[in-house]
Amino acid sequence: MRKKDLELVLERLGNWRFPSPKKVYEQYTTPSSIAADLAWTAYTRGDIEGRTVADLGAGTGILAYAAAMLGASTVLAVEIDPDALETLSTRARGDPRIHVVQADVGSLALSSRVDTVLQNPPFGVVRRHADRIFFERALELAHTVYTLHKANPDTRRLLLGIAEKRGFRCVVAKTYNFPIPQVYREHFRRIYYVSVDAYICRRLEG
Ligand code: SAH
Repeated sequence: MRKKDLELVLERLGNWRFPSPKKVYEQYTTPSSIAADLAWTAYTRGDIEGRTVADLGAGTGILAYAAAMLGASTVLAVEIDPDALETLSTRARGDPRIHVVQADVGSLALSSRVDTVLQNPPFGVVRRHADRIFFERALELAHTVYTLHKANPDTRRLLLGIAEKRGFRCVVAKTYNFPIPQVYREHFRRIYYVSVDAYICRRLEG
């Protein structure tokens, strides 16, 4: 499979939008081009095929699905919102490798670490620090983390500092132009874009 094929498959699978978007959870679907690129980046670094992968704040499941398509052995899709979970579960039914868990990422416990977290968490604009909680939880739960965060110098400094303290080597690998559609009433433009950094963090000791 090529990256373009993955993107096409995700595109063709159809509607990844949230059935009833909830502002408090900052529910923005990752576009298939970005989901495919992030998953592909992880795949080419050996972090997807045959690996256990978790998608924290999985939403309707586009990243979980991308990981499964690229040969992850198990994908844990963790989501708090029952409405999103319904869409996610319907999708996951077609793929036995995807396991859906309803949980708050803040208090999620796993019996052992997964190899890789692939996540697009809330940006922490509505619920302050939500982004940071997801980042910290991902570092606790995985050996390698691919995660998207709103691009700004303060956030970068903060997240890279946290990663270093926790024994991770962490880089901002790329920055995406992320479209936020008009799903919540106070957005006046039909669509606007935010810059989103993709972090790759790897645990230094085994
Ligand atoms: N990962 C999906 C959705 C991104 S939006 C995608 O890439 O398309 C962020 C997601 O995190 C939403 O689905 C939201 O419901 C979920 N979320 C927010 N707070 C959460 C929490 N505390 N625990 C679990 N999921 C949460």
